[in-house]
Amino acid sequence: MTTRRSIEDPARLKLDLYCRGLQLDPTLLGDDGRPVLRTRAGLGSGLELLLPTGLWVNVPVSEPFAKHSPYRLERRAEALFLSRDGVLVSPVQLAPCPPWYDQKTSSGQPMTRIGTLQGTYLGVYPAKVCEYWTIKPDRENCRFCSVGLNLGMDDADEKTVDEVLEVVKAARRESGITYVDFNTGHYEGDTYLDLLEPFIHRIKAETGLLVGVQTPPHRDLSRYDHLREIGVNRVSFCFEIFDRARFAELCPGKHREYGLDHYLDAIRYCAALGKRVPVPGEPWVTNGEIIAGLEPPESSIAAIDWITSVGAIPTVCVFRPLEGTDLADWDPPEAEDLAPVFGHLYEACQRHGLPIGLAPNVHVSLVLLPEECRSLAQNPERYWRAELRRRLQARVFRWMFERRLKRKEMRACTP
Ligand code: SF4
Repeated sequence: MTTRRSIEDPARLKLDLYCRGLQLDPTLLGDDGRPVLRTRAGLGSGLELLLPTGLWVNVPVSEPFAKHSPYRLERRAEALFLSRDGVLVSPVQLAPCPPWYDQKTSSGQPMTRIGTLQGTYLGVYPAKVCEYWTIKPDRENCRFCSVGLNLGMDDADEKTVDEVLEVVKAARRESGITYVDFNTGHYEGDTYLDLLEPFIHRIKAETGLLVGVQTPPHRDLSRYDHLREIGVNRVSFCFEIFDRARFAELCPGKHREYGLDHYLDAIRYCAALGKRVPVPGEPWVTNGEIIAGLEPPESSIAAIDWITSVGAIPTVCVFRPLEGTDLADWDPPEAEDLAPVFGHLYEACQRHGLPIGLAPNVHVSLVLLPEECRSLAQNPERYWRAELRRRLQARVFRWMFERRLKRKEMRACTP
């Protein structure tokens, strides 16, 4: 083992870790860090780490490709490092495991079966399994998805509003979360927004935290006006793949039920909604989510261009061939192929003046955020003015948000 240390560009390292995973000797972790939990459709199965400059990353460790990764975790004295091919490349920290991870709700459920931290925000998958997994005779789940394998393992399949509120408050108190993200699959009759609204009302009324929802695109787009009015701050639509033939092949349920065009209509509609329905003090962001590595990089770049052109912000995941899924034997993408996609993500958001990186203390481990990709852009200096404006806006928003939250918390403490 050579001990030469080279500190890598954290954004490039984060991308490479998504693509190659990490060989993990679990004894190195001791009792530290968060447990590896399976809770999300295609991503959240890994080890949560903190890279230099505050980047969070959920690193694949269980999938077969990770067993051949050039990356390993090394412990030197009390510190942890990442090594690649035997050379130390970066210091890392384990994401802290909060005390509430060992606690139960008053109904007796382990709190981690109700919600889990993904980076620094709370993710909740509040309802039964996505019905694409249970359709007869042939299931129609997205081929990369593991939701039908996860629920009931690390995630409870039914969660009450009281249980979720208890976990939200524990995560606010002990982990300082500022944002709660709800994620559902497809339910016959588009019932997902009806299911989520009681959770949203209580969280907004009792905590004032930022709330986002990621669901299929409701057929009645005016439902998003209502979400906006009740204080939702983010809506996200996962169409995953911009190439139409690939979309139909890999997302058969989404293709049959809604079609790619309805996803795009919903993104366009919601992006315009922020201006049409102003709600003082409540920011509004629309995301279009894609998975890089399931289609050629040019197609991902075209998706980014389309999403940003309508005023929405792309969320770009990296394809992870999860164990047990229909694509488990696919190869993960190459980081070199995806770097231009992520560089383009930063540039396109800045070119369109989109509000990236404004939410306070929201560090995301599951994806590279647009503002994290500056070093991957071809010509980042070109956007120095936009970058300066973005940082200033983030400070102002943080100050306003913290003031509002403190007022709310003080009111809650007043008998
Ligand atoms: S819509 Fe697709 S990705 Fe989402 S939960 Fe259902 S099968 Fe999984």
